[in-house]
Amino acid sequence: MNRFQPDDVPVLSRPEEGCGPILPPHGSTAPPMRQQVFDCIRSRGRMSRIDVAKYLGVSPASVTSLVSELLAAGLLTEVAGPGPQKTTNRGRPPVALSVRAEAGYVAGIKLSDLVHTGVIVDFAGRPVAEARLSRPDLRTDIDLLVDEADTLLERMLVEAGMTRSALSAVGIGLPGIVDHPNGVALWSPILRGLGIPVAQLMSARMGLPVHVDNDANVLTMAELWYGGGRSLADFAVVTLEFGVGMGLVMNHKLWRGAHSVGMELGHTKVQLDGALCRCGQRGCLEAYVSDYALVREASVALNLHRNRTDTTQVMLENLFDQAKAGNEAARSIFRRAGRYLAVGLANVINLFDPTRVILSGARMRYDYLYAEEVLREMRALTLNMGRTLPEVEINAWGDLVWARGAATLALSAVTEERTAGGEAAA
Ligand SMILES: [Zn+2]
Repeated sequence: MNRFQPDDVPVLSRPEEGCGPILPPHGSTAPPMRQQVFDCIRSRGRMSRIDVAKYLGVSPASVTSLVSELLAAGLLTEVAGPGPQKTTNRGRPPVALSVRAEAGYVAGIKLSDLVHTGVIVDFAGRPVAEARLSRPDLRTDIDLLVDEADTLLERMLVEAGMTRSALSAVGIGLPGIVDHPNGVALWSPILRGLGIPVAQLMSARMGLPVHVDNDANVLTMAELWYGGGRSLADFAVVTLEFGVGMGLVMNHKLWRGAHSVGMELGHTKVQLDGALCRCGQRGCLEAYVSDYALVREASVALNLHRNRTDTTQVMLENLFDQAKAGNEAARSIFRRAGRYLAVGLANVINLFDPTRVILSGARMRYDYLYAEEVLREMRALTLNMGRTLPEVEINAWGDLVWARGAATLALSAVTEERTAGGEAAA
């Protein structure tokens, strides 16, 4: 990744001179214009040259020239224009541009404690194959995880009727603390050991470039590329699964932090000297609302002791059934978790002022977690003097959305390379 380092700028050797932020050289924060043209067309589905020029505020001549290069590289194709087909004076239908879907394919994989999911998408971002792989609810060694991911990839390729060489890259979403630029899992609840070079090991096995990120980040990418966040500049995604995850989009971009390990909402403290979290510290939000927190309480209050065959999932379902059946202890467990979640969400709103907070993940089936009383509590804990509170959206999308988000990690990277003009058409 080509990151701008302020230290590279010699002018800083005389800090007493000048003022104002030290910005990267012009243009390096935005993608090159050729990629902007491509991204613009992909985000609209199809668009005419003149509309691209108007939208990007550049001359039609430059757009025509960049589009010719993208057509020659096999990344775009000409299609009929949007709307009713009128003919021009010369009798030709108006021509729009669209992404050439078969220009390339990438795979996305979400690695999880119970089921790994995967999807292959084409260059227009449309899914062409999917697969799942069930696994034991265990923390595992990286060798086994690499085996499982590769098996899943093979299943997807079989379903798509493709060979591995048809893929350009693989994106992987992994729970835990992930150093995305270096592809290293600093810590993951599904992996034994610390500082594991997941991208490098997966890439060596798969024979493909691999990009790894925290799973909440890939889910946020899915919201940004396909979901309710497509047109929003600033929004937050909060996920509840085995742990509590968060992704933040600022100015239409995923924000990861200086070392790419930010947004650990689950480990923000909601109680001094509180409940023990699996990170080893006390009072983390996650220690009150995640699966293992609910299961811990369930085993005490309901005498639901985990036997050898019970997974966390089975325990949770049992707890949820009892709550629905009117068991007051079971209800109080969800209610308490919901109140802590309200504290966490209010903190997110107070800190970031997002347009929308999207609550996502399979646990959103447990509607106690976002009942009106939870949202009321969240609003009560948010500073509200004249402030506009964000919308809260509940999104119980299935696991494949995470995989699709992981695929966008790979698709973004491949798009950047290919629109830079380094590689010929597939
Ligand atoms: Zn913690």
